[in-house]
Amino acid sequence: MAINLLIVDDSKVMRAMVLKTLRMTGLELTDVHEAANGREGLDRLENHWIDLAIVDINMPVMGGEEMIDRMKENPELKEIPVIVISTEGSQARIERLQHKGVTFIHKPYSAETIRDAVNHLLKMED
Ligand SMILES: [Mg+2]
Repeated sequence: MAINLLIVDDSKVMRAMVLKTLRMTGLELTDVHEAANGREGLDRLENHWIDLAIVDINMPVMGGEEMIDRMKENPELKEIPVIVISTEGSQARIERLQHKGVTFIHKPYSAETIRDAVNHLLKMED
């Protein structure tokens, strides 16, 4: 299954690293969209078919948590799987995100962690 991916991170280097990692896992990607903050991320989501969003937390303009809250308020966006990749250290915030249905991955991450999360979310394997 090939998917359309959205990567939201204020660091261009980080976006490139996440994409490289996903390609290494063998995930078949059709379209890859990038955004530098939550507002741009929402814009991409509203204008393109996205199967999976990978989202950073700390970003200017609009952070990842607010972006995710806006997604959850929007019937057309709320079912899109979200993986948050962050150095976030606050357990309270991580749990808050998990309660919103988000998969949380700590930075630095391993390729296997991302692969397993993606496979699980997209139900390509159990
Ligand atoms: Mg950031």
